[in-house]
This record gives sequence, structure tokens and C-alpha cells, in this order.
Amino acid sequence: MTINFSCTMCGRCCHGLRLPVGVDEAVAWLRDGVQVQLFCEAIPWPAEPPADNLLAWYKRRRAFAATSGQLPLRVIVSLMATFTDACPNLLPDFRCGIYERRPRACRVYPAEVNPFVVLERDAKLCPPEAWESTQVLKSDDGTWADPEVAASVVGMQEADARDADVKARLCAILGVARSGLSNEGVVIHVPDGQRLLAALELATAGGDHAKQPGAPWEIVSHRQATLDLLHSAGCASLPASALVGQGVSFLGFVPGDAA
Ligand code: SF4
Ligand code: SF4
Repeated sequence: MTINFSCTMCGRCCHGLRLPVGVDEAVAWLRDGVQVQLFCEAIPWPAEPPADNLLAWYKRRRAFAATSGQLPLRVIVSLMATFTDACPNLLPDFRCGIYERRPRACRVYPAEVNPFVVLERDAKLCPPEAWESTQVLKSDDGTWADPEVAASVVGMQEADARDADVKARLCAILGVARSGLSNEGVVIHVPDGQRLLAALELATAGGDHAKQPGAPWEIVSHRQATLDLLHSAGCASLPASALVGQGVSFLGFVPGDAA
């Protein structure tokens, strides 16, 4: 189905955000003093799926290999530029103060980067009149009609794939090795900005000095059934409640019941 859209510049998507950024963008935001958080999620990966499994291929290329106990994993680390009120780049008239170099995620919104996620207008912050435009955002063949949106979607997918190994080195340097289970929740790590910036620069540079072996991962869950399953699979796991006071937090996407 064709989806029409035109931005009304209401500014809603520039407030109270956790904005997904690539490694290059995270470095720029950290240099500007914005907090960047690490959202960590793991996918159990006991065996390589068939080559024609496109969903698995999509997940695989944006994740790095790790282990938890006896369980092989793929870990996805999302870097989130975080601000509670207006984005520091938002001008009083709701124009973007860094329009020409705004992050890829800002160029994409409200389109979807993940080709397996359907664009739901009700899930977006845009007002109803934005969808009443005659400008086509998504064609009925499923392609993004706006050339900048289409290019930015591909740009985000390629940055995700390119950054996966850098993020593996980043986690090893920072000692980050706790994640949620994909689709259930994420563990949020908030390193000091200067420390994260230095670690990102080291991880990006590569070379022998950045080749620290990654620690075994622990998977955090707030659901008892999940914890029991992970335990039976030989996985190192712990309840979300055990994170209290440890400088990391858990964000669940489904109701939890574990003590
Ligand atoms: S960088 Fe610009 S477009 Fe992106 S959230 Fe900030 S003000 Fe909005
Ligand atoms: S919420 Fe939608 S309409 Fe409003 S500024 Fe963002 S993209 Fe434009």
C-alpha cells in the first residue's frame, strides 16, 4: 500500500530521544558533550542458519559473535545518543541546526530501517496531517520513494554492518559483557562520555592495541521462564533485579515476573 508523508516540522521527533547513531556519529555527538548509551541484546546462535534465511542474514550482519557459557551468541550493540528534552541541535523555530550533517536516523524517520518491520503510522510521533500529504514516502511495491530516505536506509544498514566488529572491540575495551535477550529486553550501559569516546577511537583504529579478547557474556532477563531456559542451555544468566546498584539497567519489552 502506498504511504504518503510530508514532514510538518512539528519537532516531536527531536525531543526526549534515544537516537540510534553509528560509530562515526557517536564520536561526533560525544565530542559535543551528548550522552551516548549502549543498548545490548543477544540472539542465541547455536548453528548458522541456511543462506536463504534473509531475516537471519539481516540480524547476522549487524551483530558480532560471542559466547555465554556453552551457548554461541550474536550480540547487537546499539549506540543511542540520549537527551531528555529538546535535542541540543534543535533551533527555536524547530529547524535542525545541523541539517546538512544530521544523523542518518534523523534522515530516515519516520521510515523503517529494518526491512522486516512494517511502518505503522500510529506508532510514529508525526501528526495526522503529515500523512495527508500527496508526497509519496513508500511506493506500493514496498520501496522508499523519497531518494534521500532510500539512501539513508541503506546507509544505516551498511553502517550497522560496518560497525559490528568495532562494537565487539568497544565492548572488550570497556568490559561490557551483559545483554538482554533479543525481542525481550536490553541491558543499558552508560559509560562516562570521555571514557566511551576514547574507547570508540581505540576500537575504530583497530590494530594490535585494540585486540583485547572479549569476555564471556551474561544474559539478563526479567522472566523466570527465560532464566530457566537459559540455565538449561548452559548459558550464563542472571535476573534483571541483580543489576540494581551496578551502574547498568534493564529495559524490558515484555512483562516480567522474575524476582
Ligand atoms: S539532529 Fe536535528 S533532526 Fe536530529 S533530533 Fe536533533 S534537531 Fe532533530
Ligand atoms: S515528528 Fe514527523 S512531522 Fe514532526 S518533525 Fe518529526 S518527522 Fe516531521
